[in-house]
Amino acid sequence: MNKPFTPQLVYFEPKALDYPLGKELKEKFDKLGIETRFTTSHNQIRDLPGETDAQKYRIAKSTLVVGIRKTLKFDTSKPSAEYAIPFATGCMGHCHYCYLQTTMGAKPYIRTYVNVEEILDAADKYIEERAPEITRFEAACTSDIVGIDHLTHTLKRAINHFGQTELGRLRFVTKFHYVDHLLDAAHNGHTRFRFSVNADYVIKNFEPGTSPLAKRIEAAGKVARAGYPLGFIVAPIYIHEGWEEGYRHLFERLDEELPQDAREDITFEFIQHRFTKPAKKVIEKNYPKTKLELDESKRRYKWGKYGIGKYIYQKDEEDELKDHLYGYMEKFFPNAKIEYFT
Ligand code: SF4
Repeated sequence: MNKPFTPQLVYFEPKALDYPLGKELKEKFDKLGIETRFTTSHNQIRDLPGETDAQKYRIAKSTLVVGIRKTLKFDTSKPSAEYAIPFATGCMGHCHYCYLQTTMGAKPYIRTYVNVEEILDAADKYIEERAPEITRFEAACTSDIVGIDHLTHTLKRAINHFGQTELGRLRFVTKFHYVDHLLDAAHNGHTRFRFSVNADYVIKNFEPGTSPLAKRIEAAGKVARAGYPLGFIVAPIYIHEGWEEGYRHLFERLDEELPQDAREDITFEFIQHRFTKPAKKVIEKNYPKTKLELDESKRRYKWGKYGIGKYIYQKDEEDELKDHLYGYMEKFFPNAKIEYFT
């Protein structure tokens, strides 16, 4: 995706227009000539266009719903943060393995909440409760927040907000490169900006609708030069022909782009490709032509919560992936911190 996301259709909860951001978005979309409709609740959009399920899914992925977040109780978000901060849900990307297909099942549309100040006030209460401990908030649990932030600037407000708190920290991850408006935010080192990266083959074949690798890496360079603590999630690590070379090349390119002084505080998270039986079903429905390898008989079964286990790589394959990825990281970024390999 080389152009920032523009929705094809926008729904508003009427009360969202009582908030400055709601009003601003309505004016913006009216000016752009984008169709807007009203909905009584952001939880239920009854008249989404489309004849078949496949059409409905595609249209939903380019539909924005502007609403008010009523529940200000945050979910936990272990291990990377204490809480998930709810600014948005859904994503315009079409990654074949996206976990939102199962977690957001019936609501693949993109939602943004306009009561940002109330959400930030709720975050402040969580910070107070845990003081003097640091409290971390993850903003990308249910969406790719950077992908829509050029429209809302909610993330920018949040970065400025956490920049001023003593004990609050923000983090998120993205597959998009539209970061320019975030570069002058007063982050104060309190926001860790992470990019999801992968071997070229994986991005080209399985991540339509997201930014190409070269653009993500360029954006990571900008973010590093703006002084943000930086991180990378290499996920899903996927075995394909020439994967060793593919992942090596990824690290070489990161090495070319990132300034030396950004390397002292950089984190890596590694997640091997996995799937569950319910996820496989949804992927095959939403992306019937995918080349994604989802053969249970080639994988190792790992028991999971609620009886739904995951299929991960065989032990010897996992060890090989780990050896290579750790090796590249140590060669190119010897001072980086590994958060986990899973
Ligand atoms: Fe899902 Fe992230 Fe891809 Fe969006 S960019 S479709 S959230 S994996």
